[in-house]
Amino acid sequence: MQRRHFLRGAGLAVAALSSGAVAARETERNQSGMPAESANDADLPFAPRAAFAAAPPLAPIRASADRVIAINVCTRPFRAQGPRIGTERIGRRTVVHNYGHGGSGWSLSWGSATLAVHLAQATGEKNIAVIGCGAIGLTSALVAQRAGLRVRIYAKDRLPDVPSSGATGVWSPDSRICTAEHATPGFERHWEAMARTSFRSYQTLLGLADNPVEWRDGYALSDVPFGQGGGHGDDGEPDYPSLESRLLRDLHPRSQPLLPGQHPFAVPHVRRYTQLVFNLGAYSRLLMDDFLRAGGEIETRAFTQLREFAEVREKTIINATGYGARALLGDSSLTPVRGQTAKLIPQPEVTYGISYARQNFNVVPRRDGILVQAQAAGDFGNADTTPDRAASEAAVARLAALFE
Ligand SMILES: Cc1cc2nc3c(=O)[nH]c(=O)nc-3n(C[C@H](O)[C@H](O)[C@H](O)COP(=O)(O)OP(=O)(O)OC[C@H]3O[C@@H](n4cnc5c(N)ncnc54)[C@H](O)[C@@H]3O)c2cc1C
Repeated sequence: MQRRHFLRGAGLAVAALSSGAVAARETERNQSGMPAESANDADLPFAPRAAFAAAPPLAPIRASADRVIAINVCTRPFRAQGPRIGTERIGRRTVVHNYGHGGSGWSLSWGSATLAVHLAQATGEKNIAVIGCGAIGLTSALVAQRAGLRVRIYAKDRLPDVPSSGATGVWSPDSRICTAEHATPGFERHWEAMARTSFRSYQTLLGLADNPVEWRDGYALSDVPFGQGGGHGDDGEPDYPSLESRLLRDLHPRSQPLLPGQHPFAVPHVRRYTQLVFNLGAYSRLLMDDFLRAGGEIETRAFTQLREFAEVREKTIINATGYGARALLGDSSLTPVRGQTAKLIPQPEVTYGISYARQNFNVVPRRDGILVQAQAAGDFGNADTTPDRAASEAAVARLAALFE
């Protein structure tokens, strides 16, 4: 480890470099939300210029098992064919489905909500119901309010006590969003429109009190040149398409390769990336407050069968029940993909993330704690939400090894 690149002690601010200084190859995010580099270091068009790529001093992460304050497990609501966004007539109700966003629900939420609300508006109803109060339900409700509709949410649980709160909290719009075989040109157009709408919405949430959304630097570490090996092919997961690196290249800065001496990590291959982070605590609170302030109402209610939708007052309903739609609608196309994160005590001075593909962990510097995510073989199709503390402690120990 190159100690001079780590700040000594806590409480020091870390200066972030402009990631636009040195252009490099595209960073793609793989299905766990980690940046997975597509470029091979040997192919770099030019070496980064040291004057502009000097290593910022980084505050060390205090990674130890006794600093883990929460372990969250939830299931991504994955559908091989992508999210279900469409209208169905059920009795006298028009139901607009909006569920099945895999590992991209937060990222795509605003764009997906926009599509769903257009469908709801087509019914001409001015009062609508939204079933579900997670990332998708709440953004659908807010977009509907902004379109001039009155909205009542019905949900058995609401943010923050919903699966959405177990997410890592980064911009990952193509994470487990569909399988490669379903990424048809039509799907891709649809996905791109959703992603671009969402991205624009997120930029309007920057610079607010409590930082619900912010940009952060991160370091992708690898023992082998980027682009060699890795991926989900060997852990029981299907092939997923890389949509972001092809279709959203213009949206945000690309990652930069760093040379030894330009970073503090004792790892042969390192790139610096820039990432949009959702501080889910503050962000969820902001969404809830905005909804209630605009006159929204929330009714606690658990539906056990679809026909109970007929009992809600509103004739147009947006169904945003996430993985809950599997039981409620009998939709067996929804596959659970288990995910677990450990939260370390917040360190405001840690402003960078890390992803280390071969060591299988991903770190996000959230304001409410440092998130350490580790993916495990057997997560695909696994709906078990029992925390595996040993797995999180092992990931934290691998992270700690970087700072020894
Ligand atoms: C470990 C992990 C990390 C992730 N990281 C990211 C990330 O960094 N970025 C990203 O964009 N996405 C991420 N995701 C994916 C994201 O969390 C999901 O796509 C998203 O939370 C889905 O939101 P939702 O509102 O559809 O579902 P939910 O959060 O499950 O909300 C469903 C709502 O419906 C209600 N409901 C369900 N069934 C019923 C019923 N029968 N009756 C009444 N109410 C009902 C629930 O109470 C709840 O209010 C991650 C997922 C996991 C598991």
